Amino acid sequence: MTNTFRLPSPIQKLEHPLFRQQQLDVFIKRDDQIHPFVSGNKWRKLKYNLQAAQDQQASTLLTLGGAFSNHIAATAVAGSLFDFQTVGIIRGEILLPLNPTLQLAVDHGMKLYRVSRKDFRERDRLSLAKELVQEDFYFLPEGGTNELAVKGCAELVAETQQQLAGTLPDYFCTCCGTGGTLAGIVQGLGGRSQAIGVAALKGNFLGQEVQRLLHQKANQSNSQKQKSPASGDEPSYKNWQIFNDYHFGGYAKFQPALIRFINQFKSAQQIPLDPIYTGKLFYAIFDLIEQAFFPPKSRILIVHTGGLQGVQGFNQRFGNLIV
Ligand SMILES: *Cc1c(COP(=O)(O)O)cnc(C)c1O
Repeated sequence: MTNTFRLPSPIQKLEHPLFRQQQLDVFIKRDDQIHPFVSGNKWRKLKYNLQAAQDQQASTLLTLGGAFSNHIAATAVAGSLFDFQTVGIIRGEILLPLNPTLQLAVDHGMKLYRVSRKDFRERDRLSLAKELVQEDFYFLPEGGTNELAVKGCAELVAETQQQLAGTLPDYFCTCCGTGGTLAGIVQGLGGRSQAIGVAALKGNFLGQEVQRLLHQKANQSNSQKQKSPASGDEPSYKNWQIFNDYHFGGYAKFQPALIRFINQFKSAQQIPLDPIYTGKLFYAIFDLIEQAFFPPKSRILIVHTGGLQGVQGFNQRFGNLIV
């Protein structure tokens, strides 16, 4: 099922005077290269959900998100690759002409519905979906995060370990929207090494959310089933932390320093970053290195979670800031 996908995703070593000075080995895991549109963590989050949907003989995938959502784009394209119909429920207005993300989704056959921001905020997502869409569907929550998504993201750890001759980096760093990817990494680490999350959104909700995700059972896959309360017998991992101060104003907000960093990083490393997630992550890790957060001799792995499909839409909105 993965033959058109580049897996394992490559690992590269990054070079920078700062790393030498602090005696750090810094690696980047290029999940952005898994697939041009089903990229990064979105592929990992979809993988077991697509299997579950096939097992349930579902013909339609339904999901929700904002108008620039990487998850909407990934679901539309994955749906077309794996023979599912797709439905996307979009928060807020659907402006015409469609932005590049929604155009990509429609080009891959996704049917779009819109709901008001108020309904999106206040209503139960699944019941909203059931009202709008009459046919049966396999439900993927916003951002694609559920128990099976966490299971898919956990595979990052074993994959990395194999690529690094059986060793683990001391730090696994990722950016966070819903926290699903970080929860997966923590689960995959099983108490080893340290996981670092950098929040792309404002608000200190992520710590609790990652806790909650870690206490869900991976075999209760479909969110249409009743969730059982956490049984409390899972190990309670302490080897992770979230930095909440690198959101640059919040989701889809930016500041000149962030844009400058992304453009400089690309010209120095030939690696593109996106302004919503990965730009903030790399900015944060560089900042932490400057503050000598990581002890000398540490090996740090930064996951490039993808999201590059969003750059075009960002540039259209804000005037070609990202080169
Ligand atoms: C969706 C997304 C994230 C957020 O992942 P979560 O699992 O929701 O925390 C991070 N980076 C990129 C590029 C994304 O598209």
